[in-house]
Amino acid sequence: MTTLPPIRDVIQRHNLAASKALGQNFLLDEQLLARIAALPGDLAGQAVLEVGPGPGGLTRALLRAGARVTAIEMDRRCLPALAELGQAFPDQLTIVEGDALRLDHAALMQGEPFHVLSNLPYNVGTALFVRWLGGEAWPPLWRSLTLMFQREVADRIVAAAHEDAYGRLAVLAQWRSEARLAMKVHRSAFTPPPKVMSAIVHVTPAAMPEGVALRTLERLTEAAFGQRRKMLRQSLKGVPGALEALASLGIDETRRAETVSVAEFVALARAMQG
Ligand code: SAM
Repeated sequence: MTTLPPIRDVIQRHNLAASKALGQNFLLDEQLLARIAALPGDLAGQAVLEVGPGPGGLTRALLRAGARVTAIEMDRRCLPALAELGQAFPDQLTIVEGDALRLDHAALMQGEPFHVLSNLPYNVGTALFVRWLGGEAWPPLWRSLTLMFQREVADRIVAAAHEDAYGRLAVLAQWRSEARLAMKVHRSAFTPPPKVMSAIVHVTPAAMPEGVALRTLERLTEAAFGQRRKMLRQSLKGVPGALEALASLGIDETRRAETVSVAEFVALARAMQG
């Protein structure tokens, strides 16, 4: 195994004090990082997109697993530390300086299927997750997403109907993917520790149910969960075709959004589209 200095030393030597503005909370425990890098399965020879490598803790775990990593980092201060890592693993690491929200990931990966691993600030992580799941082209180029979220967001992604955390995010995620809570991560694992607990969600693409447009499904869930305590006949009143779809499927219009399963939302969207 390539011997590298502890990440703590790398942070010190490159003066990488965590920036609050960039949502930086670093992971230093190499055993934990190796376990995270193993979540997608064997990565030897596989293309991986890592967003927000920071000082490179997860990056080195991915490189040790034999992955070919493209890492997007917007904090220039981290680039020299990442360049050193690239030298320790020749031809395995490509560093891209920039904002992951503005880059075309498929172009960056040159059209090759890839796995995504990332430990990102909460707002950026959610925005990217919605973008990865929301693309019109399906199946997507990514093979899996292994993403750190704050615990409450992870719960919202994997929640089932009738659970408090169930809502638009769960329907969007589960409509076209298998999403599972893969690992809980205690706040003390980070330097500095964030205020809340975290969890890693592992996502693989599912087949896209035929004939359902993302826009129709989103219009439905937006209206239904916008008034989640109201009966469907009230919350879906303004959505053209929704009440007729409820009737044609025999879904009781006195039910509330939180009782409607992902499969039922998909069936409703399909019925609305005729
Ligand atoms: N992956 C490292 C780890 O686990 O220790 C760092 C995690 S830290 C929570 C998030 C990293 O994402 C920071 O290095 C930050 O600079 C970077 N980052 C934040 N927003 C970003 C964006 N829009 N595009 C690319 N990187 C971003």
